[in-house]
Amino acid sequence: MELRTAIEILEYHQEWRIGKRDDMIHEPKTITEALDRVLREVKKKLTWMDETITCPFCESINTVVICAESKCACDDCLNEFEV
Ligand SMILES: [Zn+2]
Repeated sequence: MELRTAIEILEYHQEWRIGKRDDMIHEPKTITEALDRVLREVKKKLTWMDETITCPFCESINTVVICAESKCACDDCLNEFEV
């Protein structure tokens, strides 16, 4: 499954879940395939760091840091910062 297709399927499904769409047009099997495709892609771009780091913006201590190309997003304020 193409990544773009997977994202479109998940976006449509999410819109259905929150009531923006009337019809659930995708089979559960297709949703699973789309989730697997997107997760595989996301995991390629992330590094999971099992350490705590203090956010330079709100000083919140983040216990799980998700980084993409050495950038992290704070769990609380959602600001991005370099590590
Ligand atoms: Zn923060």
